[in-house]
Amino acid sequence: MPARRYNCRCGKKRYRDERQALAAAAADQRAHHVAATVYRCPGGLAWHVTSRGCTPQALRSVGRRLAYELVAHGEVDLDEFRARVAGTDPRRRARVSRCARQMTDLALTRWAPAAAGIRLAATDRAGLARVVQIGLDGYAAERAR
Ligand SMILES: [Zn+2]
Repeated sequence: MPARRYNCRCGKKRYRDERQALAAAAADQRAHHVAATVYRCPGGLAWHVTSRGCTPQALRSVGRRLAYELVAHGEVDLDEFRARVAGTDPRRRARVSRCARQMTDLALTRWAPAAAGIRLAATDRAGLARVVQIGLDGYAAERAR
């Protein structure tokens, strides 16, 4: 497996791991009295610190975006989500289905009864919040350890 880069184009300060990012966030908090959170870069292995929280716009990956909406709303209409987030991109559309299956396999979500279409419901909000922070693949890897 090729080594993933620690470099990224976020234009944000990079930290090598979560522990270093958390230490930086704590220092920021002491210096500026603003709450800061950490997340793994969507484009690489680095960690970043943010004082604005993880916004949907910043969550470029389908899995993180889906997890974010499940944490926020409890349930997501998968067809509506797919149309809005993946548009007509066939690879992104397929990714939505894969993420939903993977989340359900990981007991983060369950299929919810729906009059029409497919709805996904959150069952583990803490786990989903972790997916927002580190991505679905990162979460699966963490759980497998
Ligand atoms: Zn980055």
